[in-house]
Amino acid sequence: MSLMEAGTGWSCTACGGELEIMKVGFTYMKGNFEVNLPACSNCGLVLVSEELATGKMAEAERILEDK
Ligand SMILES: [Zn+2]
Repeated sequence: MSLMEAGTGWSCTACGGELEIMKVGFTYMKGNFEVNLPACSNCGLVLVSEELATGKMAEAERILEDK
């Protein structure tokens, strides 16, 4: 599943506003990562589950290892 695809067609669970893909900073394993996550353009709620964030971090790790 692509995160970008997941971000389209959703609406905010809090206010029903439109979601936009936004860059959200994370600190993970002493590293700083920026990931694109769906967030509400109206109230700013970031719709990310722990599972999603963990999966994204695993992806970031893999990218770092590839370099
Ligand atoms: Zn909202």
